[in-house]
Amino acid sequence: MRKYREKHLDKINQKRKEDYHNNPEKYREYSRKWLRKNPNCPKEYYEKNKEKIAEKQLENYRKNPLYKEKSKIWRIRNIEKAKKQDKQYYEENKFKSEAKTKAGIYNKKHRIKKHYCKHCGILESKKIKLYMHHPDYSKPIEVITLCASCHVKLHNS
Ligand SMILES: [Zn+2]
Ligand SMILES: [Zn+2]
Repeated sequence: MRKYREKHLDKINQKRKEDYHNNPEKYREYSRKWLRKNPNCPKEYYEKNKEKIAEKQLENYRKNPLYKEKSKIWRIRNIEKAKKQDKQYYEENKFKSEAKTKAGIYNKKHRIKKHYCKHCGILESKKIKLYMHHPDYSKPIEVITLCASCHVKLHNS
């Protein structure tokens, strides 16, 4: 088969050209379809936007009603694991919110929150809110002061 292709490559290419001339609309439609199926091409675009694409895919996946159904099924099949995960999530968040509350109370008396962001130096104002970040939730009064964008960046890195 391959040999046939090699032998007749010129003929095949010639045939394609003819087809294209006879029916360009069909070919355009074909390439449109291909682009729709492969919106991430060319590769360069994909490399540059890897994260965005992955996020979008995850978002679409979550919007899909099948996703909820699937995770429900997963819970039923892995009930012990699911319970453990829930408990872990609850404990972690309890820990975090306790640290935040303690820091808030302590800050009122001792002012541990600075008036500028430790990372970018921006000053607190009506428009710029600053936040107390806990590098270690087991040390609730050890905080660093960050603006919203530095805070998000830190948590995402
Ligand atoms: Zn900042
Ligand atoms: Zn934080």
